[in-house]
Amino acid sequence: MTAARRCAACGRHDLVPFADLGGMPVLCGVHFASRAEALASPLGAMWLGHCPGCGYVRNLAFDPALLVYDTTMDTNLHHSPAFQSFSAELVKRLAGRYPLGGATVLDVGCGQGEFLRELCHVAGCRGVGYDAMYAGPTGSDGSGATFHRGHAPLDDTTPAFDLVTSRHWFEHLDDPYGFLVRLRELAGARTVHGYLEVPDAGYDLGTAGWEVIYPHVSYFDGYSLCRIVERAGWRVEATGRLFSGMFRFVEISVNAPGPVAGPVEDAGPGDRDRQLGSIAGFAARHAAERDRWRGTIDRLLDAGDRPVLWGAGSRGVQFLHLADPDRRLAAVVDVNPRKWGRHLPVTGHEVSPPESLAGSGTRAVIITNPAYRDEIGAALRRLGVRAELLVA
Ligand SMILES: [Zn+2]
Repeated sequence: MTAARRCAACGRHDLVPFADLGGMPVLCGVHFASRAEALASPLGAMWLGHCPGCGYVRNLAFDPALLVYDTTMDTNLHHSPAFQSFSAELVKRLAGRYPLGGATVLDVGCGQGEFLRELCHVAGCRGVGYDAMYAGPTGSDGSGATFHRGHAPLDDTTPAFDLVTSRHWFEHLDDPYGFLVRLRELAGARTVHGYLEVPDAGYDLGTAGWEVIYPHVSYFDGYSLCRIVERAGWRVEATGRLFSGMFRFVEISVNAPGPVAGPVEDAGPGDRDRQLGSIAGFAARHAAERDRWRGTIDRLLDAGDRPVLWGAGSRGVQFLHLADPDRRLAAVVDVNPRKWGRHLPVTGHEVSPPESLAGSGTRAVIITNPAYRDEIGAALRRLGVRAELLVA
């Protein structure tokens, strides 16, 4: 990698490398039938660069050819009650903010369609969803939503939409600016609103970085996210953080009458400067957290605590790759039944149901996502497992 890359967000500076994280699991959301297949799954180079002007961050070494999205991927977050209730609140919020009765909603990266189906149900709108990972029945399903397996073509086959939503997909795109420009072109002279939701880079780069994963090409804090949508011709209506500060949303519009809806939170120059500070310390923090957790696992094993990891999503996969590459943990459990008995990429850890912890003698449960602390604590009590909950 030698060619300078221009910032996708502000378009004004070349990105400056700041952290070489080495090889990371490419297929974080895939689980494998055999350990051998899991161990053979690829690593991709993570070489992060940032914009000195706006704080946008990108993996300079990202290779789109390495990462083909299909239905073997399981990045569904809806197995968690905490995420379900968050998503239900979001549906209510959007239905209250926009006149969606009879409108058309385009959902790009719709996952398994839970959000779009619920939005159609609550708001009385028509939905069109696209996702290469969508594994359900295609076509109309009676909810008002129609689903397509594959990337949204964003061409003349795309129906005219009044609201475009895209949750946890924008950060995966090789060309996020081009995506927004294309959506702006499709809006034409009509009034169109949009809702984008991404992991908040202020959180991801200000903490250990378990969510700094190969499929995430871009990392946006409030400032850089506003810059990229504005440069692509959209107006920022509102932005802020959600879900314990781990997610960032931006509401956008074109041809919308009246003043900006607001609020615009945590997206000013002061926030950008704080983000640049997080970026400066990230490489050292990332390495220190990896070493600290290897040490913690050593200590728990020595004490006979049978430490386990709860959560085999992308954060868990990243944690295992960095902190437990030799599979010393007693178990990895997850609430998603599709993962049980299957193996995680690169490290080959096998995933078990949470129920397997009952009577196992585990005294330490590591989680990588603080947003799930309460629900995992409650589940452990139901299982009769008396364990210390450690948040990585
Ligand atoms: Zn920039």
